[in-house]
Amino acid sequence: MDFNMELLIWIAYLGAALLVILGLKFLYSTMAEIRNIGATEKKKDDAVPEASDAANALAAAESVIVIPGYGMAIAQAQHKVWELTRVLQEKGVRVSFAINPVAGRMPGHMDILLAEAGVPYDVIYDLENINDQFPTCDVALLIGANDIVNPAARDDDSSPIYGMPILDADKSRNVIIIKRGQGSGFSGIENPLFSEDNTRMCYGDAKDEVQKLITDIQSL
Ligand code: NAP
Repeated sequence: MDFNMELLIWIAYLGAALLVILGLKFLYSTMAEIRNIGATEKKKDDAVPEASDAANALAAAESVIVIPGYGMAIAQAQHKVWELTRVLQEKGVRVSFAINPVAGRMPGHMDILLAEAGVPYDVIYDLENINDQFPTCDVALLIGANDIVNPAARDDDSSPIYGMPILDADKSRNVIIIKRGQGSGFSGIENPLFSEDNTRMCYGDAKDEVQKLITDIQSL
């Protein structure tokens, strides 16, 4: 074999070795890319926001009492509230509705809205039939309600609403209040219930906030 032929064979060997190295490198980078995609997807999964405190408290409750007020009427949230009720019932939560006779802006206001949404009568209770159930209730869920749950009407004889019938939501283990902000109710007075330790405020329009609760509870 002359020198040129030997050189050609060596060049062929080197070329083959180079091809093998390049092939391995390509294989390695492709696999790393696949691993990265997996990691990114896992990161995306990890970034899914956790359900809110309020959603966790509702889903873990044995009994929930829903108190609708004027804000539910303003937001037209009654259908969403009934949807939330069914989601909770599917999780085994006992849900009742409590009606204050002066809730809303006309007699029977809440009854009309709940009937329109299809809430059955056997889960709707008048004030005198439900007030003694609050101390054993896990969560009182207030939807745009304010004056009708203001403890000042029961406890503070200097309050302008003293003597007005109220639902004793403050006596339940947890209170979740949906309203848009710090706005007062029809009476224009403050509500000490909003700053109690067992109260969680969910600020926003009632329909939107109830939808958020539904989504969160369904994700649990
Ligand atoms: P309320 O005391 O008037 O309180 C309603 C609350 O709903 C407000 O504090 C408001 O707070 C919130 N709200 C308004 N729009 C909302 C929205 N889109 N989403 C979520 N929250 C919203 O109502 P109530 O507790 O039903 O009490 C009724 C009052 O009306 C009583 O004082 C009663 O005496 C009086 N009243 C009743 C009648 C009747 O026949 N039923 C008649 C006349 C007067 P934000 O602004 O912070 O959201």
